[in-house]
Amino acid sequence: MTRPVQKLTWNRYLTQIADDPRYRAKIDRDKHGMYRDYKKIFATLDRIVSKNREKVTPILIGESTEGEPIWGFRVVSDAGNTPRITFPRFLVTSGIHAQEFITAETNVALMERVVNNMSQNSDLFDREIYFFPMMNPDGYLRTQRDLEAGHRHFNRSNRNGVDLNRNFSIFYSKKYYLNRLLPGIWHPGYRPFSEPETSALRSFLLETRFDYALSLHSFGGWFFYPYAGSKRKPRDEAWYNEITQEMIDRQPEYGYKAKQLGRFLPGFLARGAEIDYLYETFGTRSLLVEIGKHGMKALSPRVFLHPFHWFNPKDPQREIENLIESLFFYLSQPRIRKID
Ligand SMILES: [Zn+2]
Repeated sequence: MTRPVQKLTWNRYLTQIADDPRYRAKIDRDKHGMYRDYKKIFATLDRIVSKNREKVTPILIGESTEGEPIWGFRVVSDAGNTPRITFPRFLVTSGIHAQEFITAETNVALMERVVNNMSQNSDLFDREIYFFPMMNPDGYLRTQRDLEAGHRHFNRSNRNGVDLNRNFSIFYSKKYYLNRLLPGIWHPGYRPFSEPETSALRSFLLETRFDYALSLHSFGGWFFYPYAGSKRKPRDEAWYNEITQEMIDRQPEYGYKAKQLGRFLPGFLARGAEIDYLYETFGTRSLLVEIGKHGMKALSPRVFLHPFHWFNPKDPQREIENLIESLFFYLSQPRIRKID
């Protein structure tokens, strides 16, 4: 007997989250900082969506390995009379790596502030922005279960043990020595887009072209630009140098540094990364942001002994405040794409 296929709607998924205890976890704020569990993140997203129905639309692009939906949120400014087809289009992804909770917090905070400020802030008029806060839902749920249980696991991959940010097609390599040396960290998957999470994003990108993208990660305090998987310089290097300097100038507490990711450290390449796929395949100017310097405090016993603390500062709000104006600036850039 087959059940009729019911297309999952945003409201039905919210009901599922409310009813099922596996979406909840007690995250000790004194120990780990003010991080929300999966259920609370979605409750916040629901609040933003229901208060701004004319601006925000949830879209479903696919499913994770364990069948969780991957949601994006399309935000379009309601100001001005410009036809929407000419709007510059932006993509903001986060949570590709399981334990980088600060990235989902930053993405949701950015989305909320963009929605609230679009009508007043002329820099944000006439644009279309897609937010994908939870690109690896299985990893987020696994990490929050670990935090509740008191396990100090290193969580980076998806359900199949694949590093999703090595599973894109550009400069993808199974043979690359770092991927072979440390498969527990950088396992690239058996072929490009072998994973449901990256494959869902790819299908979406083949339909929707972006001028710009932000890929949120932690930690280190860096703005990294392509290429990640090669030392070859990007043709837009001058633009990258300019925009990242403008972003650094907008950081009140301390400035990040900027560099091409493929030239970050001798002998290090990130092959099969999201930013290279976006840049090389679609010409989308993409930036990988490594949020926060807290992980450098690894000599403090509290931080050293708990991998979650390397990636997530005790005070996420403070870290977000230091970054948000520079992300706003990135989202104010003009359209560059010629075709849709
Ligand atoms: Zn990451």
